[in-house]
Amino acid sequence: MRRRDFLRRAGLLATAGSAGCILPDQRGPEVHHPVTPMGAMPGARGQAGYIWAGAAHVDITPPEGAPVWLAGYGFQRPMQRVHDPISARAVYLDDGTRQVALVVADVVGLLHNSTQRIRRLIGPGVQTVVASTHNHQSPDTMGYWGPSILHALPVQTGMDAAYQRVLERRMAQAVAKAAWSARPAQLAVTRAPVVPGAVRNLRDPDDVPKTMLVAELRTRSSHETIATIVNFACHPETLGPRARLLSADFPGPLADEVQAQRGGTCVFVNGALGGMLTPNLDDDADLPERLAFVNTLGRSVGRAAAEAIADVPARPVAAVGYWAAPIELASGNAMYRYIERRGLIEARARGPKGGWLTEAGCLQMGPMHWAVMPGEPTPAAGRMMQDTLRAGGAQFAGVIGLGNDELGYLLTPTQFDEPGFSYEVSVSPGREAVPLLRASLESTQRKRGSDGG
Ligand SMILES: [Zn+2]
Repeated sequence: MRRRDFLRRAGLLATAGSAGCILPDQRGPEVHHPVTPMGAMPGARGQAGYIWAGAAHVDITPPEGAPVWLAGYGFQRPMQRVHDPISARAVYLDDGTRQVALVVADVVGLLHNSTQRIRRLIGPGVQTVVASTHNHQSPDTMGYWGPSILHALPVQTGMDAAYQRVLERRMAQAVAKAAWSARPAQLAVTRAPVVPGAVRNLRDPDDVPKTMLVAELRTRSSHETIATIVNFACHPETLGPRARLLSADFPGPLADEVQAQRGGTCVFVNGALGGMLTPNLDDDADLPERLAFVNTLGRSVGRAAAEAIADVPARPVAAVGYWAAPIELASGNAMYRYIERRGLIEARARGPKGGWLTEAGCLQMGPMHWAVMPGEPTPAAGRMMQDTLRAGGAQFAGVIGLGNDELGYLLTPTQFDEPGFSYEVSVSPGREAVPLLRASLESTQRKRGSDGG
């Protein structure tokens, strides 16, 4: 597939190579837009082995007729109309010691600045992981995809500040809703088969994940579903670059299918989707075929997830938590420097070496551990992170892509030198990113272990 993904053309500006370092624990980057805290969050109610859990879903669809630049492909792609709504979905867990939340929006990506503002709205009591499905039919929530010269050189941000404030507030509200709805809960986890032929890998056709992780929170007394988390890796780009429809893409029908079968709230979280997992659809498919495939893909993945988890018993959960390590990535990527200097994206917080600050972390829900990665890991990079989690004692090891930040493609050092990955290299934070993220994940594992996680 000839991707016209974001900044491909401007990628000509890019130069590869970077250096960075893992920082000691410190406060997160400064945020320049103070926000009003929301109402109080509930305090701890769970106990070790007797967690409380809740889930919620909020609408984040911009109003029909709103001036929206759609994100994910070329610049300056205006929304024509809303085809189907987009959502933010949250799950909240409380083990009496720690309260954690995962909130995922049907958008292309959120920078660390947005993550920090959402966390401030929620307050310090809940360790929150903010992620995006990487939906390519959603408003520009980062700033890359606005007006441009000849569709080649972006000159103005595509992010609507007013929409962004509403989005961040609603994501925080989803976490609050999930927290207030929490009940005593248990967790079931399994691996489910991915429907053969649903997804293809444009770089290495043989490297397509055969399974996905499914985790389900159920009430302790009646075993009702609270939330089903489906962790599957694929670019939500079924509708393609010519579509000007706002849509949730395949994660929409995926969630509908899981909720129809299991009840509760389905939270889809993308995995190691970079370089380059995409829906298995012909490049020349027209819009009606693409709309049909959105449904086929979403429903078939949702059905496989729901069927696999149905007979898995839920068990008490000993501990939940999120452990993160801040990282400085001194990106040598000229394109990134250009877009930041032009004010297309918000200025990022910088570390002592002048590089971009971000974070890597481990989100734990009992036996289920996720490596939370600030971008789009390739399947190979994802496996490195899963190995790290298993070495740290994870029974089930997953990867959350676009977690807390979106820095582009996260390639292994070997892939960085392969010509087949030249596009991904041009939209990457550098060769050192994955080794640093891995080292950082190892440090969070040690911290988790000493905290009793
Ligand atoms: Zn992507």
